[in-house]
Amino acid sequence: MSAKGDMFYAWTNVSDIKGECGGAVTSILKYLLESKTVDAVLTVQKGADVFDAEPVVITDPADLVKSAGSLHCGTLLLPKLIKKYLNGAKDMKLAVTCKGCDAKAMYELAKRQQINLDNIVMIGLNCGGSVSPVLARKMITEKYGIDPNDVVKEEIDKGQFIVMTKDGQHKGIKIDELEEEGLGRRKNCQRCETKIPRQTDIVCGNWGVIGEKAGKATFVEICSDKGAMIFDGAVKAGVLATSAPEEKGLEIRDKIENVMIKMGKKNQETQFAEIGEGTDRLKYIMAETGRCIKCYGCIENCPICYCVECSTKKPHLVRPGQVPPDFMFQMIRFAHIADSCVNCGQCTDICPQNIPNSLFMHAQQVELEKMFGHKPGMDMELPVLAFAEEIDERARLNATGSDMIYENVFGEEK
Ligand code: FAD
Ligand code: SF4
Ligand code: SF4
Ligand code: SF4
Repeated sequence: MSAKGDMFYAWTNVSDIKGECGGAVTSILKYLLESKTVDAVLTVQKGADVFDAEPVVITDPADLVKSAGSLHCGTLLLPKLIKKYLNGAKDMKLAVTCKGCDAKAMYELAKRQQINLDNIVMIGLNCGGSVSPVLARKMITEKYGIDPNDVVKEEIDKGQFIVMTKDGQHKGIKIDELEEEGLGRRKNCQRCETKIPRQTDIVCGNWGVIGEKAGKATFVEICSDKGAMIFDGAVKAGVLATSAPEEKGLEIRDKIENVMIKMGKKNQETQFAEIGEGTDRLKYIMAETGRCIKCYGCIENCPICYCVECSTKKPHLVRPGQVPPDFMFQMIRFAHIADSCVNCGQCTDICPQNIPNSLFMHAQQVELEKMFGHKPGMDMELPVLAFAEEIDERARLNATGSDMIYENVFGEEK
């Protein structure tokens, strides 16, 4: 019997599962579907090419084999899709693969009652970072001298981003070198400190698998009682084989995690310094967001945004039809989200104007964390701003304001 905190090497007993490492994740998902512990699996699979990670809901265990393997250009965030398209898992049981940012977004959505975490099994993935599909294509063309359309596989190994082509070419370049040139992992990934998401039920990775099992087993850490039950169930059902991890492997995994966290912190310092401090930072943000075309992409994709009546659409706060919008548009976003931003990068990825939204939001989140101690996505604690009340200005002015002020603000009669 396993328990929270236990660690294993695990690998699949199912011959057609070709996992990234030991295929443990796909095997656990298979067990969850076959045992009817969940109704469906939400994960990603290769779409048009290796740069195109598409979200997929799988209900037939036979379909899981197609989703096995890691897509390092899979920058999408799954939790908001549960809210938007799967009714917040309120009436179905789901298993979901979660990078650190997915896991943190799950907690933030759950604490706002947007998804039902009791109905969700989170299978965590260690995460060293992901690469924007657009940038990946550019760097493979320019830096690797390879046509991205010829790439059939990509992987991250020993600090290199490696691509393989259909005619057998194999080329890797150090991620550090790529990042020095503004390429490599997404900027938010470079700042990320959530490398082993232990907020999940079971977390899986390759760090720490050494010796004869290197490359053939998945390193599994059990993170909850629910995770222990599921892991034991999968072993009992015969889909998974396990062994104890090597002592040296445990040390290596710890060491890598700590180095990666330190690198994340260092990258935060560097990137935050680039946007200045105090008034300079404000001016910088105002200038950058001056390109905004108010497409609402950042709002639609942010896991923290959930208001039914979005304040950025209220005419007395942001004038309708104005592009770029008043800076109030950005101020509302900062006030609503900054204390809970999980640095998932969605608002930057989606922005057609290349505004580094997540950098601005993350920089503020770090400052608010220093003040109030709230670390988003780690537990079910609400942030301090959740207790602030937003005044309904229309109702207030309707009750107390003059007719003229009301008409000026709302453009209609009281
Ligand atoms: P498999 O059986 O192959 O199953 C993998 C599952 O992950 C599948 O269900 C698949 O759909 C899902 N998946 C693939 N890509 C994504 C994605 N982008 N977002 C969400 N789900 C996805 N491990 C480390 O130890 N160190 C690392 O630095 C590291 N970096 C990673 C970076 C990324 C972007 C990803 C996706 C994974 C990373 N991992 C890392 C985890 C590792 O690559 C394996 O996923 C893990 O070891 C499980 O292996 P497996 O053979 O058991 O998984
Ligand atoms: Fe991974 Fe963190 Fe980037 Fe999310 S933000 S993809 S967890 S490195
Ligand atoms: Fe993610 Fe951006 Fe929302 Fe922060 S503000 S949680 S980075 S989408
Ligand atoms: Fe403005 Fe970019 Fe957000 Fe669109 S995604 S509303 S352009 S900041």
